[in-house]
Amino acid sequence: MYQSSTSPRGQSPISIIGAGVAGAWHALLLAQSGRAVTLHERSDATMTQSTSYWAGGMLAPWCEAESTEPVIVRLGLRSLTLWRDYFPDTPFNGSLVVAHARDRADFERFARLTSGYRRLDAQGVSEIEPSLDGRFREGLFYPDEGHVEPRKILGELHARIRALGGSIEFNSAVEPDQLDGTVIDCRGLAARQAQGELRGVKGELILIESDEVELSRPVRLVHPRFPLYIIPRGGGRFMLGATSLETESAGVSVRSALELLGAAYAVHPAFAEARILEFGSGLRPAFPDNLPRIAIKNGKIAVNGLYRHGFLLAPALAELTLGYVERGTIDNEVMQCA
Ligand SMILES: Cc1cc2nc3c(=O)[nH]c(=O)nc-3n(C[C@H](O)[C@H](O)[C@H](O)COP(=O)(O)OP(=O)(O)OC[C@H]3O[C@@H](n4cnc5c(N)ncnc54)[C@H](O)[C@@H]3O)c2cc1C
Repeated sequence: MYQSSTSPRGQSPISIIGAGVAGAWHALLLAQSGRAVTLHERSDATMTQSTSYWAGGMLAPWCEAESTEPVIVRLGLRSLTLWRDYFPDTPFNGSLVVAHARDRADFERFARLTSGYRRLDAQGVSEIEPSLDGRFREGLFYPDEGHVEPRKILGELHARIRALGGSIEFNSAVEPDQLDGTVIDCRGLAARQAQGELRGVKGELILIESDEVELSRPVRLVHPRFPLYIIPRGGGRFMLGATSLETESAGVSVRSALELLGAAYAVHPAFAEARILEFGSGLRPAFPDNLPRIAIKNGKIAVNGLYRHGFLLAPALAELTLGYVERGTIDNEVMQCA
């Protein structure tokens, strides 16, 4: 049995398994509330075994409403506040949605299914993103959305947990049954044996570098077959993402690479001269309804199924778990008690 030290307030210690975005936010909020927290992670501090390492990091509840349920928007809006409170430097300068003229019907559909945007004409698009001058006749601007750089923010989350007195054990693969006290299982897809309904939904991405294009915010291209987003990473780097495929195979296919690079070229032809820095893929942990779950059973709490919204939802889910641990509060939409 692994044991954690006793909390300064005499409350039971908390063990969290998995230092991806879900586990890290849980550790942060619980450590902040004064609990003795130990976070176990099977990989080293680079976090390459997590899905979070491969994510885009968009905090985009209004855009996501196009393809998801109202509960994602509700939790996402709460998360935006928590990101702002805990990481005030998070860029919240919005998202831009564009489409080529031939895909206008899809663009209008996107507008119909979402809210929280301003319509921009060609001049408006070029005012907020000068590199896109003359490229699109119109756009939808979601001014309150944000984005984080996952690899950087995971490190910042871990540093913050330690600063609050929490302990992080890297290279520490553990199972929930090996731990005493309150256990929060945030293992993502690796929890599949305990949560048989979980599946992995593959997302492929490409990291490129260009001296010729500058973007200040995520840009989504609405397209009937190859929807694309381009996320600026600073230093002339951009993440192109992401496919969504019902397979758990590893790597990036030639077809996906062609689609992602072709769509980026269609957003701006100067991307043709960009250098490819990295191809990668991750498996999004998803339940059959693609909605997150906090499952409570025999003193163990399992938080999973964050699917394509881990960065968007993790703070709000951690807050719900904290409410349960501290006061027994149940959120009927997300929590399941056995
Ligand atoms: C290409 C791509 C783009 C995405 N873009 C976005 C986006 O823009 N916005 C957004 O909100 N979401 C996005 N997502 C989704 C997001 O990445 C996931 O929802 C999120 O990473 C899931 O986080 P998690 O903490 O549940 O799982 P993970 O990040 O996988 O973390 C689980 C951790 O548990 C560890 N672990 C497993 N087993 C053990 C064990 N036995 N002992 C100890 N540790 C263990 C693993 O090593 C891992 O670090 C994207 C995903 C992909 C693939």
